[in-house]
Amino acid sequence: EAFNANVAAAEALNTFIVTTPEKALEAADAVDAARAKGETLGAMAGVPIGMKDLFATEGVQTTAASHILEGFTPHYESTVSANLWRAGAGMLGKLNLDQFAMGSSNETSYFGEVKSPWRKEGSNTALTPGGSSGGSASAVAARLCPAATGTDTGGSIRQPAAITGTTGIKPTYGRCSRWGVVAFASSLDQAGPMTRSVTDCAIMLEAMAGFDPKDATSLDLPVPEWEKGLNPDLSGKKVGIPREYRMDGTPQDILDSWERGKEWLRDAGAEIVDVSLPHTTYALPAYYIIAPAEASSNLARYDGVRYGLRDLPDGAGLQDMYAATREEGFGDEVKRRILIGTYVLSAGFYDAYYNQAQKIRTLVARDFEQAWADCDLILAPTTPNAAFGLGEMQADPLAMYLNDVFAVPASLAGLPAMSVPGGLNSDGLPLGLQLVGKQFDEQSVLNAGLAIE
Ligand code: GLN
Repeated sequence: EAFNANVAAAEALNTFIVTTPEKALEAADAVDAARAKGETLGAMAGVPIGMKDLFATEGVQTTAASHILEGFTPHYESTVSANLWRAGAGMLGKLNLDQFAMGSSNETSYFGEVKSPWRKEGSNTALTPGGSSGGSASAVAARLCPAATGTDTGGSIRQPAAITGTTGIKPTYGRCSRWGVVAFASSLDQAGPMTRSVTDCAIMLEAMAGFDPKDATSLDLPVPEWEKGLNPDLSGKKVGIPREYRMDGTPQDILDSWERGKEWLRDAGAEIVDVSLPHTTYALPAYYIIAPAEASSNLARYDGVRYGLRDLPDGAGLQDMYAATREEGFGDEVKRRILIGTYVLSAGFYDAYYNQAQKIRTLVARDFEQAWADCDLILAPTTPNAAFGLGEMQADPLAMYLNDVFAVPASLAGLPAMSVPGGLNSDGLPLGLQLVGKQFDEQSVLNAGLAIE
């Protein structure tokens, strides 16, 4: 009930697209009933959580923050949300995001921008919570809910977690089922938890993950007991510092936070070693070819027939309906991605762009494989900057894309990666530290996160 009251009080942050307090209360009642009967409770029993509005929720509007899905109410439940309800969690509502999860500032939502609860010291300028899981980050940072789901295609869990002082993990690609999650770039999309602590992340990820025959890329592996395995003693672990992440122009605050991270891990018993990930600079451009390419194909399904919005001008034919619906329904950033994606996949340019990007993707993955010869984990900043003002980067899509320069390599390689708070900058704003682990080794990532926390 306290959480429900908070959510109502914090409307100004615009974190929720719809609220479902009755569902959170139902889960709480179910816990009372189960307790009265002496039944064992699920790991998330009674926890009121926010769901990023990219997860299909049965009977509750699911929009991906796009006009084109406004009014779409699925008659099915995503596997990840179903897993969470089975573990006892209850839904407080659907959280705002960048439209179709495309963005790094939560300004591309059809339902309006999300604000961070943070402010620079001595300033009242509204700041971005990051994106695309900005509603999730803002809601957790503002204590509107103790935990929220996020999705990460190229940094959308880690970047918002970093700049709101929260904790979020993108597991190994395939750990969490994509079934019932609105598709952006299917070879990259991965769900994960956003919480206030590493332990909460471990508990929630355990509830979310698991093999799902309905997702062809789901990992057919048992879900490890990550929470039980938590151990902040890093004796014998080697943590790699990738030299290519020391990019020109990275602010001193970010470098200082990185140094602090190294000290914390050293204090926990880890050995810090230098490593090289030589193709790092090519990762971001490759991502911005692959992700739009897949998006242009995935978003072809929004045709005015199957979901949500339909714009059927008088006397119009089928083609006119497609055009009018998509013109009206998609936001500018989504259209930009569809155009880029269509272009790089077109017959004349496929080899020059898409094929090259796929080759780079392989090289980026190979960089990590080679680094694992020398270390067990990688430590880097999560973002090249702290939270920026709303509107500040909107006019410059390339500057916006740079937000994910440190996040994208782990996405291309499908590796588990987490952002944990890494101290404040000179303006009093939070910065994040990123830990990247070997495939399937979320445990080492979580343990190092615990040591930093
Ligand atoms: N900011 C990146 C993009 O706009 C990442 C988005 C995401 O991870 N969903 O594509």
